[in-house]
Order: sequence, then C-alpha cells, then structure tokens
Amino acid sequence: KTPVPSDIQISQDLVREVGLLPIEQVALEAGILPSEVIPWGIAKAKVQLNSTLQRLSDTPDGNYIVCTGINPTPLGEGKSTTTIGLAQALGAILGKKCFACIRQPSQGPTFGIKGGAAGGGYAQVVPMEEFNLHLTGDIHAITAANNLLAAAIDTRMFHEDSQSDEALYKRLCLGEGGKAAKPFSPIMKKRLVKLGIDPNKSPEELTPEERSAFARLDFNKSTITWQRVLDTCDRHLRKIIIGMGVNETIQRRGTVKGVDPREQHSRETGFDITVASEIMAVLSLAKDLKDLRDKLGNMVVGYSNSGMPITADDLGCGGALTVLMKDAIMPTLMQTVERTPVLVHAGPFANIAIGNSSIVADRLALKLVGEDGYVITESGFGADIGMEKLFNIKCRESGLKPKCAVIVATVRALKMHGGGPPVSAGKPLAKEYTEENIPLVSAGCCNLVKHIENAKKFGVEVVVAINQFKTDTDAEMDAVRQASLAAGAFDAVVSNHWAEGGKGAEALGRAVVAACEASNVENFKFLYDLDLPIRTKVETISKEIYGADGVDFSELAERQMEQYERSGFGNLPLCIAKTQYSFSCDAAAKGVPTGFRIFVREIRSCVGAGFLYPICGDIMTIPGLPTRPGFYDVDIDVETGQVIGLF
Ligand code: ADP
Repeated sequence: KTPVPSDIQISQDLVREVGLLPIEQVALEAGILPSEVIPWGIAKAKVQLNSTLQRLSDTPDGNYIVCTGINPTPLGEGKSTTTIGLAQALGAILGKKCFACIRQPSQGPTFGIKGGAAGGGYAQVVPMEEFNLHLTGDIHAITAANNLLAAAIDTRMFHEDSQSDEALYKRLCLGEGGKAAKPFSPIMKKRLVKLGIDPNKSPEELTPEERSAFARLDFNKSTITWQRVLDTCDRHLRKIIIGMGVNETIQRRGTVKGVDPREQHSRETGFDITVASEIMAVLSLAKDLKDLRDKLGNMVVGYSNSGMPITADDLGCGGALTVLMKDAIMPTLMQTVERTPVLVHAGPFANIAIGNSSIVADRLALKLVGEDGYVITESGFGADIGMEKLFNIKCRESGLKPKCAVIVATVRALKMHGGGPPVSAGKPLAKEYTEENIPLVSAGCCNLVKHIENAKKFGVEVVVAINQFKTDTDAEMDAVRQASLAAGAFDAVVSNHWAEGGKGAEALGRAVVAACEASNVENFKFLYDLDLPIRTKVETISKEIYGADGVDFSELAERQMEQYERSGFGNLPLCIAKTQYSFSCDAAAKGVPTGFRIFVREIRSCVGAGFLYPICGDIMTIPGLPTRPGFYDVDIDVETGQVIGLF
C-alpha cells in the first residue's frame, strides 16, 4: 500500500486480512519435523535443539551472511529491516532456502527510545506485537536466573559472616535442619576437585582443613562484579545499596543465630539491563544444552580474599540456573510477512554486550538450509562493535565461517556523518536530509568506507545495502555506490524492501548470492590471537577497528587485567563496551574521528560466556528513559484486545 502504513498496522492488517501460516506449517516448509517443534500459540514455536541438530549432523552448512551497518544515527539505518527484506528476497522471490536469524528485542528500548526490532514496513516479522513483547519468555528466564545467582552470593556472604567453618560445612552437607550427611552432589564434587580434594570422599571423611576450604568461599567483596538485572531502562538502579533490611533486622533482634549486631550486611552494587548480562551472552554463545550447563556453572562472580575465582558452581547454583534456562536455549521460530522462516534467539545489545543472536540458532539454520541455502544473521549497531564481536568472539566459539558481510547504510545517516545538523525528536527533519545534497552525503561516506575496510580485514566479501528512503535521489544513492565500490566492496545495491517487501530487495539478494559464490571461507580470519596480553588485544581492536591512537586504562582496569592474567583468564577474547554512535568513545564524533584515545574504565570478566568485558568511556550498562518514552503511545483497544501504538 502507498503510503506505507505504520509497522504495527502492516502486521495487524496482514494477520487479519491474509492470515498467518500456521507455525507447524512454517516449520515443515523449513525442513523441521513435527516432533521437533513445540508450538507456543499459533504464531511461535520453540525448536528442539538436540534432536534436530543430531538428525542434520551430516548435512553441510549453508552460506553464512552477516547483516551489519554504519555507525547508527537517530535517523535509523534499518539493519533489522534489511535482514528481513533480504531473507524475503532470497526465500520468497529468488526461491532459495533461507533463514533470517535475529535477536529478541529488549523491553528497555521497546518502551524507551529506539523502537522494536521486528524490521519495518513490508519487511518484518509478524505478529510484531508478539515479537516485540514477551516472545517466549527467554529474557524473563535470564532475569530469573541472574537474580537467583545474585541472591546466592549475598546469602552466602551473610551466612559465612555469622557461622564457624564447621557449622557452615554441616549445614551445607546436611541441609537446613538435616540429620544425616547427604553424599556430595556432582556440583559439590566439582568444587572438591577444584580444591584438590578427592571427590570420592564422603562428607564425614574430609579433614577439618578440607572442610573449612570447602565451606568458606571467603569473598573479597570489592571484587564482586556480578550485578542484579532487569529488562527495563531505569537509570536509578545503576548504583544501589542492598542489605539495609538485613542490618535493620539484626539490630532489632539483637543477635540472630549468633550474628554480631554490629556486622554490616549492606554493600554497594547495581543493576544492569538483562540484555547486557553474562547469562544473555551465555545464551548467545552456548553450543548446546551441555555447553550451556558448563558455561553457566563456570561463570565467575568474584574472587576470594586469597585470589581464587568463585564460580556459580562454587555457590551450588549452576544446575538451577540451567533448569531456569532449559526452554530459553531453544530458538523461537516465527515468519516474515512473506512467510520466510525466522529464528529469533537471544537479544544482547551490541554496545554493552556481544550484540549477536545465538550460535545455536545460526547452526540450526545453516543445517536446515543445507549447502545451497542462505542464513542471514544480524549483528547489532555498527560494524565496529556488532560485526567485530560476531567475528572475533562468536565465530571463534562456533567455528562457523561467514562468507559475506552486508553493510547497511542510508543516505540520511551518511549525511549526518558528513556534518549534517543534529535531529531533534518531534521536529521536522532539516532540509539537508530531505533535499538532494551530494556534497554532504559524499562527505559522510567516509564512515561507510572505514566499515568496508574493517570488514575486509576479516577476509569476507562486502555488499553494501543502500536502504532507500523516499526522499533519496538517484544521484545521492549513486554517490554512495561509487564510494563503496572504490573502497573495495564486492557490490553496492539500492534496496527498497521497506516499501516493496522481498521484491524491493531482489537486486540485493542477487548481489549477496554472487558475493557468496566469489567468497572463499578459507580467507576468513580473526583480528587478534587469543594469547596476546589483554592490553595488546584492547589496543589492536582500538587501533585497527576504531582508528584510535592508543588506549588508556584506569587504575581499576589495570588491577583487573593483572587479576585476570593471574587467574588464567588472560587468553579470552574481548567484548568491548562503548558507544555505538561513533568509532570513538565520544558519541558526538561522527564520520571517521581521528586523534583520539580509548579510555578503559573497568574490565569485567565473563568467564562462563568466555570473554573479558572492557567498559570504555562513559557508557552505561543500564540505560535511562527519555522525557517522553515510547510507552506514552502504547495502549490497548479494550474491545478487541489489540495493541495500539507500538511503533
Ligand atoms: P536498526 O535495525 O538499524 O536499528 P530497524 O530495521 O529496526 O533499524 O528500523 C528502524 C525503523 O526505521 C523501523 O521502524 C523501520 O520501519 C524504519 N525504516 C527502516 N527502513 C526504512 C525505509 N527505507 N524507509 C522508511 N522507514 C524505514
């Protein structure tokens, strides 16, 4: 239809007028057997992981494509829309077997500032309300698991403060109020092995020294980096003091179970947004259920006073966390407006997290499409963060080799990188963005060019997708195309999927097929070796990808690097948290900034997920809400039950 209706209107009209393909049918057409799907209503289904992967283990993988973009601007670039539009072109128009693998959106931006992530216009996943709201509850499961572990940490410190080693040991082995010692559980045996104690001993057989070592984790409070999480933008939770109620209870009652009433059980901690949590990263990077169990159990939450890393399994929590995550590890199947299959899984932000959907969804999709098929996986924000993390972290973990990077750019966003005026919410766009201005778009192409050059460092072919807005002129789009080709892109194609669906991305689809044919996966390479010192790895990414002159580390970051290297975590890849709006740490520095340094404020460790997490500049790990948040426009039609105003 013209003009193109709102995203929610398109989705609701389609569901009402055309109807969805029953999800079992979507599954069947995508090669998933009825026994392998668990329907979640009529529009969504979980896909059984182990049985499906086992059945397809001998099938060769399809072509692996990443969809990424230039540094985002408030004007929106359309990566999700292009991922979906390209899948529709390959699947519905060019008749290829194809999957799009995308992330579940966080409730933070959905009700905050950014909008949803189902795509847009005639290139979207439907029904978009279900996609953008709770989906199949994976993010809630992560919140539950994360906060169980947080409770386990503070509870353990509380009990350790108030009990002798022997009393602690007895309670751990007998259970509260228990009489007979239970045999060591597998999780307890893992701790015994870590302490160098024979795991075949029974609880009665441990020496007093061994009992003490087993019972007392002896947290060094200042090293705890595990935070609580919530999937809401809420700046007031960034720093909090917990335990005030515990102190009050103790003071009121005098002593509780021998607790010293002067003991302070409060401490400063904070919240992160759920999608930036380590458990979300674990979901992205786990290879199967067993790997999920191992990664969750191995998450390091802090260190003991003697410098020993303390894990979720040391706290007896890894099994329970995995149980909370057992459905979340299965990707969710949905469909596009043109009935192309989509796997939705994990939803980490690319600025403060790994920013990519899951390894299991990509693996599953690559097997389902087979050798001649195509899987487009979307990575978040600009290629400097989302794509870099996909290649250096996710592909290293999965062993999957991408053939092609599709870099999405728009004329409007490039104009902003070229020095166009800032955009203010609620105000009409300046004429620079709505009228032809070739010098401005040409000036901004430097941002795109640097991303093309960066992608080529990994040995993949690059196709630029010029996501067309209706005010773009042919001459402007041609300027982008010429700049892309000059920078070494395999091709650069105008794509109009937002207005026309898959048909509008047919040329992009053909270019991607040609790029995959020309690409040799053996050329794919990582940017850095894992055994380099942490400092050198941060410097390599900062210089090679961001174009920085160098890196400065805070005292805290220096101490943490030392701690990680001492604990044997120095050889992990890096997941750098920094602003998505610029190559630098300064969100206002558009285009290709030069003459800047990267400041590393803190380095957290995500040992379970398998990376170190340097936090740069003033980036926050839980965003705030704007004055007029997205939720102002959201409501429900109480007669029909339909959602209104969700973009
Ligand atoms: P990103 O993934 O880069 O954040 P999205 O694909 O989610 O961006 O798109 C953001 C918004 O912009 C969506 O509401 C979408 O409908 C809109 N949009 C995307 N491409 C176009 C286009 N070519 N013309 C008009 N609006 C578009």
